[in-house]
Amino acid sequence: MAFTLKERQIMGLHGLLPPVVFTQEQQEKRVLANLRRWDKDIDKYSYLMGLLDRNERLFYSLASKYIEEIAPIIYTPTVGQACQRYGFIFRKPRGLFITINDKGHVYDILCNWPEHEIKAIVVTDGERILGLGDLGSFGMGIPVGKLALYTAMGGVPPSQCLPVVLDVGTDNDELLVNEDYIGLKHKRVRGAAYDELIEEFLHAVVRRFGPRTLVQFEDFANSNAFRLLEKYRHSYLTFNDDIQGTASVAVAGIIASMRIVKTKLSDHKFLFQGAGEASIGIANLLVDAMVEEGLTKEEAVGKIWLVDSKGLVTKDRPSGGVTEHKGVYAKDFKHIKELEEVCREIRPTAAIGAAAIAGAFTEQFIRDMGEFNDRPIIFALSNPTSLAECTAEQAYTLTEGRCVFASGSPFDPVTVNGKTHYPGQGNNAYIFPGVALGAIVSGAHHVTDGMFLRTSQALAKMVTEENLEEGRVYPPLSDIREISATLAANIVEYAYRHGMAAHYPEPEDKLKFVHDHQYKTEYESFIPVTYSWPGMSD
Ligand code: NAP
Ligand code: MN
Repeated sequence: MAFTLKERQIMGLHGLLPPVVFTQEQQEKRVLANLRRWDKDIDKYSYLMGLLDRNERLFYSLASKYIEEIAPIIYTPTVGQACQRYGFIFRKPRGLFITINDKGHVYDILCNWPEHEIKAIVVTDGERILGLGDLGSFGMGIPVGKLALYTAMGGVPPSQCLPVVLDVGTDNDELLVNEDYIGLKHKRVRGAAYDELIEEFLHAVVRRFGPRTLVQFEDFANSNAFRLLEKYRHSYLTFNDDIQGTASVAVAGIIASMRIVKTKLSDHKFLFQGAGEASIGIANLLVDAMVEEGLTKEEAVGKIWLVDSKGLVTKDRPSGGVTEHKGVYAKDFKHIKELEEVCREIRPTAAIGAAAIAGAFTEQFIRDMGEFNDRPIIFALSNPTSLAECTAEQAYTLTEGRCVFASGSPFDPVTVNGKTHYPGQGNNAYIFPGVALGAIVSGAHHVTDGMFLRTSQALAKMVTEENLEEGRVYPPLSDIREISATLAANIVEYAYRHGMAAHYPEPEDKLKFVHDHQYKTEYESFIPVTYSWPGMSD
């Protein structure tokens, strides 16, 4: 109903629409009112996905303007519920389903996708969806949601985005007998056949869409995530958000914290609760950041201590379980099982939780952090809120308001002795839309750790003195489109400086270059452009 009278007449729509012409703003208002009529978030999700099918541009103009309200519906936490019930709420397919049975034909399936200029793929095998475990093909909600944020937060044109599920089966017994399940009903295929499917998929992507197609791996289980990242990071344009995106946002928060506690990274001793995708990613990037400050790699590694499900990660510990990635950080130290005891023995200045063990930062632990440090840094990153290592209230009150706190899930501000503290939320959405946009528009051939570190530093710089005064270590999420554009411009700059860019001539104004590539959410005119020739009448 926003087609103008002229458009209706030229396109043969006249009479097919009611006489009134609405503006885009009027439509947004109506759609927003409809959205807010729903009580349950899952219903809001279905309503918004329906809007996305009906009117993509309206969906994105709404999502960009009301990002703080809409992101939690189209992405975490609501998308988690949507994935759990994906078969039940299923109305219209979105994204590409490629199964283990399609080996040998993956390229043909990619050719069935109706868009030709794909620049960004988010792919999952559904094995570790958020904190919800193996959801198989129901995991499609994640690539769909993540790419919706590529557009809403980063401005990557939606026609350039392709969500993919690689369905190799599921080990979730409930799904195997669920009559709404939409995926292959057998156990996961692993080993050589699985690896061949991944390999064929990446080959097919390059053959179909070109080597500068970004492939983001999302929500793969721990062992595949690390393995595939190492295997492909130097041969494809790829990154893993659970490892590298998390690392970048957490390190940004830690760098911003340095401005509050007035120290360098290398003055710190970091204790991690958890040694998985999130923790190892953060630890590795922190090492890079400390090396930039002038430490040797060994010195930097020495400042990082890991605790996993078997306790402190030490060399030759009797309980074993020290994988290659953890081994780098294993210390020559007596083995200790309990986190509280580890804290007392090594006296960390910063504690970072990412083990999905609720309440792991106990009262005693937080008090000790407060006793050992004037300004302890406490990041409770585990999601969802119910799995956080501690609440914001516990962290602030038990340290008399002295700690710098950030979390994975949002917490309300806390007032201690008359001063209000605003917890930071280390949301990966600060990072991946901007990094992806920058990599795509510059035509970079790889996404490097250097890009993520540069992004962390740039994001930390956007935190204002007023933000820091209130304890915030991240800029407001409401500014995300501009934050993403600025981060993308940084990536573009980095790509040219390191000889990784393919777009020539090099644009002088990188931010303008990025803006010019961003998807515009305002309706375009459908009136054809006409012009006349000399001496010719119309
Ligand atoms: P993951 O790869 O499965 O790693 C989990 C780690 O926790 C493993 O190292 C595991 O030890 C360890 N662990 C399990 N039980 C433990 C215990 N009792 N004590 C100490 N460590 C224990 O998972 P992930 O991807 O790193 O995610 C972990 C958490 O971080 C999730 O809650 C996720 O939501 C959150 N996260 C937050 C953000 C964010 O805030 N932006 C981003 C990503 C992830 P083993 O190695 O011995 O098995
Ligand atoms: Mn994820």
